[in-house]
Amino acid sequence: VPCRSLENERTLAIVKPDGVSGNYTTSIRNIILQSGFTIQAQLTLHLAQHTVTTFYAEHSTKAFFPSLVKYMTSGPVLIMVLEKVNAIADWRTLIGPTDARKAKITHPHSIRAMCGEDLQRNCVHGSDSLHSAAREISFFFPGRAGFNMDDPFNKVLW
Ligand code: ADP
Ligand code: MG
Repeated sequence: VPCRSLENERTLAIVKPDGVSGNYTTSIRNIILQSGFTIQAQLTLHLAQHTVTTFYAEHSTKAFFPSLVKYMTSGPVLIMVLEKVNAIADWRTLIGPTDARKAKITHPHSIRAMCGEDLQRNCVHGSDSLHSAAREISFFFPGRAGFNMDDPFNKVLW
């Protein structure tokens, strides 16, 4: 999500239940700050089933969906809005590939390699595009995405 300056962008990061219960939030926060992001908002929540179902609506027809909902509701998560130049792509690079088991081999310094386990239990989330970032930030932090998705000409910032 473009914001404040022409270059700055916001993305949504989530430390998933395995990341929180495994005590990785401090390490992850340090990586975030050392990588030049600022944390614009944060929230710890134990997500309800309907919240996960809506957030991950794009995956609702997949075979793994019921299992994903069970995983994401299994304990509290830490939800953060991160800001930086090129935040969306840079956060995806830092977290590494979806499959944490593969990440340990191909991207050993990634966050998912550090604290994830497999294709499902991969300890962190990152928005995958400008459009997803706008939707996902607004979902948990109404008004904080930087613009109104429904009106591309509305560039009013907070
Ligand atoms: P990413 O989180 O890397 O953007 P996806 O959007 O494809 O990955 O999937 C959302 C989440 O659903 C993943 O982070 C992971 O927790 C889970 N997931 C994805 N694919 C599978 C799968 N084939 N089996 C089990 N869980 C999966
Ligand atoms: Mg995704």
